[in-house]
Amino acid sequence: MTTSWSGTRQPIPKATRKRILQRDDYRCQLCQGTRCGNHPLHVDHRVPVAEGGTHDDTNLWALGAYPCHAEKTRAEQARGRARRATTRITVRPATVPGRSQPRGQHPKHRHRRHRGHG
Ligand SMILES: [Zn+2]
Repeated sequence: MTTSWSGTRQPIPKATRKRILQRDDYRCQLCQGTRCGNHPLHVDHRVPVAEGGTHDDTNLWALGAYPCHAEKTRAEQARGRARRATTRITVRPATVPGRSQPRGQHPKHRHRRHRGHG
């Protein structure tokens, strides 16, 4: 497996960030600023890119850095790990059936003894 965990995470253009923040009224869309009010706002992907999310405005929202964004990222990473940890099917080398070994059968040697008479 050479699938590198390459970050498909592209930076969101500054202009887009600004647009999203303005749209969302500079408020965390997860908690409306009730939990992360003191923390800076991030513009984040609602559906992470790794899970098929787009860079479209509809998939972007303002999210407080902590705890909202941090928790969301953690959940995403956990999901990502679960996705990657696909159950491995262990392939065992099949034991070659019945490698017929010649049975150690001793051919019966009969020693005839000639009873020499006379
Ligand atoms: Zn928040």
